[in-house]
Amino acid sequence: MKAEINKEVDIAIIGGGVAGCTAAIALAGSYNVVLLDQTDSPPKRIGECLPPATRRILKQLDLLEGLDSTLRATNQSQHLKHIGTQSYWGNEQAYIVDLLRNPDGFGWHLDRQAFEIYLREAALKRGVNCFWPAKLQSANFEDHRWSITATAQDKGSNDPLYHFKAKFVIDASGRQSHFARKIGIGRQQYDKLISCWLTLPNLEANKMSTISASEIGWWYSSPLPGNKRILALQTDPDLIDRSTLNDVDQFFRLAKTNREMATLLQRNSSAIGIHQTVAANSTRLNQVAGQQWVALGDAAMSFDPLSSQGMFNAMANAIQLTELMMESDPKSILKAESLKEIQTSYTHQLDRIWEHYNRHKRMYYREEMRWKDSAFWKRRH
Ligand SMILES: Cc1cc2nc3c(=O)[nH]c(=O)nc-3n(C[C@H](O)[C@H](O)[C@H](O)COP(=O)(O)OP(=O)(O)OC[C@H]3O[C@@H](n4cnc5c(N)ncnc54)[C@H](O)[C@@H]3O)c2cc1C
Repeated sequence: MKAEINKEVDIAIIGGGVAGCTAAIALAGSYNVVLLDQTDSPPKRIGECLPPATRRILKQLDLLEGLDSTLRATNQSQHLKHIGTQSYWGNEQAYIVDLLRNPDGFGWHLDRQAFEIYLREAALKRGVNCFWPAKLQSANFEDHRWSITATAQDKGSNDPLYHFKAKFVIDASGRQSHFARKIGIGRQQYDKLISCWLTLPNLEANKMSTISASEIGWWYSSPLPGNKRILALQTDPDLIDRSTLNDVDQFFRLAKTNREMATLLQRNSSAIGIHQTVAANSTRLNQVAGQQWVALGDAAMSFDPLSSQGMFNAMANAIQLTELMMESDPKSILKAESLKEIQTSYTHQLDRIWEHYNRHKRMYYREEMRWKDSAFWKRRH
């Protein structure tokens, strides 16, 4: 027989990634929050570069010290300093953005998995009711509340059944936007960008991130904690053979046709870590907020990795949402006027971010004209 857990809460957050955890931590002092994630611990994933401005958010949430103290405790850098980026974009000269003069200081090359574990642990410590693995199964609006069910696995298993009645739901389930999809909200895809990435031992002294354009897309490489390096190609799926994506030797041969990647890989070792291909396209929910719910982070809108802003945006969104929810009496989230105000202001804020993002994206892609007749660049000019 299935064990059942029933709870009445103020806010249910679906997804314990960067967005969900940040929102849970920010809201925990004022609301009774439940946080669900389908995985029992964060998986290894791409996306390790955290920009310096995140320091302000981490400080505001009292998370900065803890992040740095893990370094002191182990006397080893769990996360590396991000000192800057060299881009070969538009011509063969390096354009260097050096973070030395950034008013917020350096950024980080995160151990992404360790960072997400840190956020999950912080949510638990701040009194958030956390359940993982707990995968969203259904969401129905009944009697002014959301009725949410989740199980550890897909339906049909004997794992516990979680049942929550929530006044408000935050969909932080990433690009799949599971909650929004279940309630019938569509998602617009603006391109088909994919990223094929792998990790390998780092034998290079260069500590900067490197971006280098090529005819079929652009390459990215940067050092990772633990003497590793990431190598990633961003392209469109119809412009590359599946076999090149799946076969490490073919992928390396292709990487070495790019001058900057060839330099970085000169002394490469063949010991490959993870090797995956993931969606990296710009997408957006047709509606980012509705009746007692909002979508946050990638669930609301996902960015081209050229922006390197996904995590920062997820965290900044969470703070904006929390501020909107705190503006009036925190316990008034069920009042119609407060809810309407949150929905309108939040949608407006996200519209502005989306507009700004698209303007910058167009501008950056137009700066690369060396292959203006090739399909990848034509689609983006
Ligand atoms: C190739 C690539 C490179 C990137 N590089 C960077 C970078 O350098 N810097 C940066 O800032 N950003 C980067 N990003 C973007 C960044 O990774 C995302 O913006 C960020 O992960 C968004 O966080 P999130 O919490 O919104 O979503 P996610 O990280 O996707 O988290 C969603 C969570 O929801 C859970 N979940 C999903 N469905 C359910 C369900 N049904 N029930 C319960 N739980 C569920 C998942 O298990 C997951 O833990 C990159 C992205 C790509 C594709």
